Amino acid sequence: MKMIQDFNFKGKKVIVRVDFNVPLDKKTFVVTDDTRIRGAIPTIKKILKDGGSVILMSHLGRPEGRMEKYSLKPVLPVLEKHLGMKVLFADDCLGESAVKMSAALMPGEVLLLENVRFYPEEEGKPLLPDTATDEEKKTAKAEMKVKQKELAKKLAGYAEVYVNDAFGTAHRAHGTTAVIPEYFPKDKIMFGFLINSELAAMDKVLNNAQRPFTAIMGGAKVSDKIMIIENLLNRVDNLIIGGGMTYTFIKAKGGKIGKSLCEEDKLDLALKIIEKAKEKKVNLYLPVDSLNADKFENDANTAVTAVDAVEDNWLGLDIAEKTIREFTAVIANSKTILWNGPMGVFEMEKFSKGTTAVAKAIADATAKGAFSLIGGGDSVAAINKNGLADKVSYVSTGGGAMLEYMEGKKLPGIVAIRGE
Ligand code: AMP
Repeated sequence: MKMIQDFNFKGKKVIVRVDFNVPLDKKTFVVTDDTRIRGAIPTIKKILKDGGSVILMSHLGRPEGRMEKYSLKPVLPVLEKHLGMKVLFADDCLGESAVKMSAALMPGEVLLLENVRFYPEEEGKPLLPDTATDEEKKTAKAEMKVKQKELAKKLAGYAEVYVNDAFGTAHRAHGTTAVIPEYFPKDKIMFGFLINSELAAMDKVLNNAQRPFTAIMGGAKVSDKIMIIENLLNRVDNLIIGGGMTYTFIKAKGGKIGKSLCEEDKLDLALKIIEKAKEKKVNLYLPVDSLNADKFENDANTAVTAVDAVEDNWLGLDIAEKTIREFTAVIANSKTILWNGPMGVFEMEKFSKGTTAVAKAIADATAKGAFSLIGGGDSVAAINKNGLADKVSYVSTGGGAMLEYMEGKKLPGIVAIRGE
């Protein structure tokens, strides 16, 4: 597999799949968080420095056909600011302008193509009415696969080299991620710096973790995290569980959880996880106390109880002091830490203490030499909110992609370049 750092792009036209799926202000369409744009800059700069030219392609949002509110135009000024140069823009990724502009692109120049998802074939999902029969669905799907290949082939025709640096969409089998590499020679496809660093961080945690290795899983539902928990039980020394998931476990164990979040159909599964942890000799840490509220509001009345003694009609919305102390101590003794999902409803100030305490404990452990990987939108938001992004080892840019990789799944965008 070719590595970007060893490749000389001199005189080469390079098409780069980036993840510019950034949040925009609903009224002004100004980019409100440019993390993803910044993430792509090292790859773009390397190609330019070598003397290559760059054609950028990305999606933004989930348009159904061409929809101006999903245009990538608002990205342009931000990209120009970070690159310190003018960037060209083609207002349709497959249109005449894109063909002409990419053909005329000179070394040192950058061209951004309009949203690739303006073409449904990028995602490869046929848009069909609910009334469509199975046979119609099958035919439409097959036709869409052909169209997806055509889109990928056409885009591939713009350049001599393909670089994928869009980690956030690596788990999708889309035209510009998983299909386009087929149209380049094997020695002309590679990952960009961002994907390489994401893979290095995740592989270090999955396959090369220094012990003790602690995984901290939070967030709303057991069902969202079950696959990653099962995979991690084969790898970690400690598994900390917090957030809304807690109460399904506590109820399964016979505790009183009031009106706290609970997945009734996952009670057996929770017991199985507890059993499996025992079998695998993994220390499973569940909260011991709970900060409860009489309503799901920031101005609710609050009370702390044992986690298995939440009053009727009250709901547990954060971990409380004893749990914070226990979790912090486990984190402090860890050499590898993986964190996904908040410990409570951290969006409300009153219930953000547990999540903040965990974020700080991870930063402290990192300062003492632990390797820490943070993934998932909400844990990343909590790290950023507390100004700790540069105090942890790695903050992943791909929520869903990271989860799937950590679950042990093969990501189509990764496999298309690296193989199995
Ligand atoms: P996830 O996307 O699965 O990581 O879940 C994140 C969401 O879980 C956040 O919006 C939190 O507000 C929510 N959450 C965390 N703890 C609780 C809790 N105890 N009860 C209800 N929701 C929670």
